Amino acid sequence: MSYLVCKFGGTSVATASALTQIKKILDLDTRRKILVLSAPGLSSGIVTKVTDHLITIAEKTLKNKDVRRDVGAVKKRFITNYTELGLSEEVILEVLSELDVRITQNKEHPEKLRDSIVACGEEFNANLFSQYLNLCDTPAEFVCPQSIGLRVSSVYGDAQPTEEGMKNLEEIAAIADSGKVVVFPGFYGIAEDGSVATFSRGGSDLTGALIAEAIGAIEYENWTDVNGILSANPKVVSDPEQIPALTYKEMRELSYMGFNVFHEEAVKPVTEKKIPIRLRNTNNLSNPGTLIVSDRLPDERDVIGIAAASGFCLFNIQKYLMNREKGFGRRTLQIFEELGLSYEHSPSGVDDLSVVLDQNQLQPGTVNSIIRKIEDELSPDSIRTEFGLSLIVVVGEGLLHKIGVLAAAAQAFADAGININIVNQGSSEISIIFGIDSADEDKAVRVLYDSFFNDDTDDE
Ligand code: ASP
Repeated sequence: MSYLVCKFGGTSVATASALTQIKKILDLDTRRKILVLSAPGLSSGIVTKVTDHLITIAEKTLKNKDVRRDVGAVKKRFITNYTELGLSEEVILEVLSELDVRITQNKEHPEKLRDSIVACGEEFNANLFSQYLNLCDTPAEFVCPQSIGLRVSSVYGDAQPTEEGMKNLEEIAAIADSGKVVVFPGFYGIAEDGSVATFSRGGSDLTGALIAEAIGAIEYENWTDVNGILSANPKVVSDPEQIPALTYKEMRELSYMGFNVFHEEAVKPVTEKKIPIRLRNTNNLSNPGTLIVSDRLPDERDVIGIAAASGFCLFNIQKYLMNREKGFGRRTLQIFEELGLSYEHSPSGVDDLSVVLDQNQLQPGTVNSIIRKIEDELSPDSIRTEFGLSLIVVVGEGLLHKIGVLAAAAQAFADAGININIVNQGSSEISIIFGIDSADEDKAVRVLYDSFFNDDTDDE
């Protein structure tokens, strides 16, 4: 049979009423047979995520500090939610007792201890939710990385699935075929030696994507507390349009620039089998959400989103006849590599090359080291630096065939008196990036939005 894999994020599992809403969502579509749950997150009056409590517990445990209050806070969240849903306190405490076991394990491998504690939020939640479903006469089974064999690499805190793990996940379809709802904890897998290893933060999205890929789901529903992806930041543009559908590549471009609705790593598994991802709002079922697909739908806008991020700097290197000097680009980038710096972009001209970096990487003295090395190894005519840059990106697969997007953006900037420091159109041609002074960032996003979304002639 074909199933929808449904992942529910932290706010969607934060309270008893949020959990009953999941049950309602399940009942609306019988294909929703595979659930992936996060740990309870934030809600009104709840200011700490269970995962954050667990991180504190792990850190304190490693330092032999008293964790009773933190453990109490975690247990209280589960007891409050699940007693309200009708589970007995005894049953809940039995599940939660595993936390006491994990904090007393040996501290020889701090990263293993940490991950095994941090993953408890997801593990307990999925276990207890499956019991709640059974209580409601919805046959359900708690299936977890330990029981199914979701094998991952032994990179604690940033694990990746192995081939064997992916193969084992295929078994989930057979459990769903038996008519049961599978309730699976997100965020972690099992390393080679059987220890718990978590993905990076927000990694339950990845779990959902892996299961969707393994069982060839018809769609991967990712339920959160927002309607979907908006075409611009609503704190900057008033009432921006919701994006009805976008491609995986467009999603990647937007998330690179801070659209953090969905974990970046979770896109890759579903792209291979072209499984659509649908972002949905648990509390607004009438909104169809945003669909992320492999191919562009023909009736959409050319530009689907505008994003911005600040905190970049630029090193511009000038040297006469640079274009004839073999290896100049490689040696330039090597300098950054040797200093342990990653670069974002590297636009170039005939006799000049710029390297754009995330400024957060710079330590005191890094700038001088970069300049000294460039002078020593490349003998440039000049080096210019700029700090406090913002990158603004215009994204859309439509840029491939549309003439004049760059011209329209440049005109919008010129009309607003915004100076463009750099322009970079990647060879995939689905985005154009502008580097401007950070002081102009919000204004730049607004004028671009007006140009591409509020212009009635755009769709003609
Ligand atoms: N609970 C984990 C976190 O807060 C994983 C997740 O929710 O996706 O990062």
